[in-house]
Amino acid sequence: MHITALAGGVGGARFVRGLRHHLDITGLAGSTVTVVANTGDDITLFGLRVCPDVDTLLYTLGGGVHEGQGWGRAEESHRVQGELAAYGAVPQWFGLGDLDIGTHVVRSQWLGQGASLSEVTARLAARWGLPDKHIRLLPMTDVPVETHVVVDDPEGDGQRAIHFQEWWVRHQAAIPAHRFVVAGLDRATAAPGVLDAIRRADVVLLPPSNPVVSIGIILGVPGVRDALRGTAAPVVGVSPLISGRPVRGHADACLAAIGVEVTAQAVGELYEDFLDGWLVDPVDASTTLRRARVEVFDGPLLMSDVAATARIAAHALDLAAAVPA
Ligand code: GDP
Ligand code: CA
Repeated sequence: MHITALAGGVGGARFVRGLRHHLDITGLAGSTVTVVANTGDDITLFGLRVCPDVDTLLYTLGGGVHEGQGWGRAEESHRVQGELAAYGAVPQWFGLGDLDIGTHVVRSQWLGQGASLSEVTARLAARWGLPDKHIRLLPMTDVPVETHVVVDDPEGDGQRAIHFQEWWVRHQAAIPAHRFVVAGLDRATAAPGVLDAIRRADVVLLPPSNPVVSIGIILGVPGVRDALRGTAAPVVGVSPLISGRPVRGHADACLAAIGVEVTAQAVGELYEDFLDGWLVDPVDASTTLRRARVEVFDGPLLMSDVAATARIAAHALDLAAAVPA
């Protein structure tokens, strides 16, 4: 079986890890999972190219993630960041651990030598053993794309756009967002293999990733949404919201910015033009979509550990097998 998943960082990575576990324990170990990662979060800091969602996927699927945090490396230290602070180097609001910086240095070196982000990501994934686990990690595009957030200018009457990371990490999404602007997206093309992975998959899954700044950005890459509408594979999503709240992060602030209600129903509707199945938590059992079959998970839709996540992934695959594509 060939499964393709569109993923942001923590939600996407945890879901794919659970999916992989489910496949491995049910005799489907040979199945491949292609992960199309959001790169709108990417940022250049201290001359280094940082790809937060790709890195969360690498570390989580490769077994090196800081479990409590959900992102970054386990057993991390911050000596380099301390040195940068001593020099007065900014910004200091984005945490960069020493081991993590290793990833950013080698990525920046390879990009500087002319490798594409796809090639670089494949080399990083090899170090983390992803090919051996039958996981193919693709950035959504090789073109640098950066999500910005339009907010009121604190120093004037107008508005200004700040990098998504500045809004999310520095301001904890507490400054009201007027809209998101994705620099570079209009001239972006899907990375090699992305559109084929959607068109030729047996199943396409949308993990419970942020519908606006993770999945929403991937859907904005020219060709991706059309590929999802046109694929012969069933497309099944898992709600990132339970009872009108994101399980973690600030998806509520993101949805408010685009004028969409913070409900499993409204998020399902965002995808309804290509969605075949939508898995929701029991508290959201009243969800109905005109063009997709809604199913209620038989327990909390919480990825509390790998086993619980594997059960969610199994239900998503069952739903995919039951709906007409
Ligand atoms: P990020 O890039 O690190 O923010 O991660 P993603 O975009 O992949 O995922 C963030 C989304 O995952 C948020 O909207 C959360 O509500 C959702 N999420 C996180 N953990 C869970 C969980 O255990 N269950 C469900 N249903 N959603 C979750
Ligand atoms: Ca992210």
